[in-house]
Amino acid sequence: MRLDLPAVYLFGRTACSVLDRFLDRSTLFAFDLDGTLAPIVSDPDAAGISGAVREELSVLAGMAPVAIITGRSRPDALRHLAFAPRYLVGNHGAEGLSGWKAREKTFVRTAQGWQCQLDTLIPVEERRGIVVENKGSTISIHYRHAENRNKAHAIIRRAAGRLVPPPRLVRGKCVENLIPEGAPDKGAALKLLMRQAGCAKAFFAGDDETDEDVFRLNHQRILAVRVGRKNDSGARFFLRDQSEIVRLLREINRILGRT
Ligand SMILES: [Mg+2]
Repeated sequence: MRLDLPAVYLFGRTACSVLDRFLDRSTLFAFDLDGTLAPIVSDPDAAGISGAVREELSVLAGMAPVAIITGRSRPDALRHLAFAPRYLVGNHGAEGLSGWKAREKTFVRTAQGWQCQLDTLIPVEERRGIVVENKGSTISIHYRHAENRNKAHAIIRRAAGRLVPPPRLVRGKCVENLIPEGAPDKGAALKLLMRQAGCAKAFFAGDDETDEDVFRLNHQRILAVRVGRKNDSGARFFLRDQSEIVRLLREINRILGRT
């Protein structure tokens, strides 16, 4: 899949048979959570997946392995999913992968160190609308509720630039994610899960900057779809918006139900 080609609408005329040709029961089905399975809401605590999406996911889980790869911590994700998928990877790939337990402990210590440093690096008078969320293996600094988002983002970037050891920074929607160096990203996580599940192929849907680590894999045996069109995305296919997820799941279940 070449990155310089324009992305194709998954339910459009030229792509409608792509799922049909690619998917079968040896496929691992992996999904991001927020903005993909669940709509983005202004209060992240209120996020949840609809009954229709949950129903389709449970049908799918009866036919093929399902994985959720999310930026949330695993316990937090479980609360919002209200079901337990076969594989659940949290912290953008840095939590829950088999064989990574010992390294995860070092990620947690790194994140704890950053949290302490941030207490000084972002003084109270600059904190209005800025929320530092320690998720265990990574830290997210949210600024959705800042009065001046540009200013808040600049304050966060300046502070993050002074952290020791330096984090890998991944920008999301009104959030800056601080990820320990060496932690697996979503792309690495998906490839590991494919090996673990014994799946030669994978399907993935996501909408975030951290999902680009899957899209950029440019992997012949991974069919990746971005929720929402974005010009510089590495994803070959896109859905128009999150509301099309339920149609996507129904389509997947129809195809698998036949094989
Ligand atoms: Mg997302």
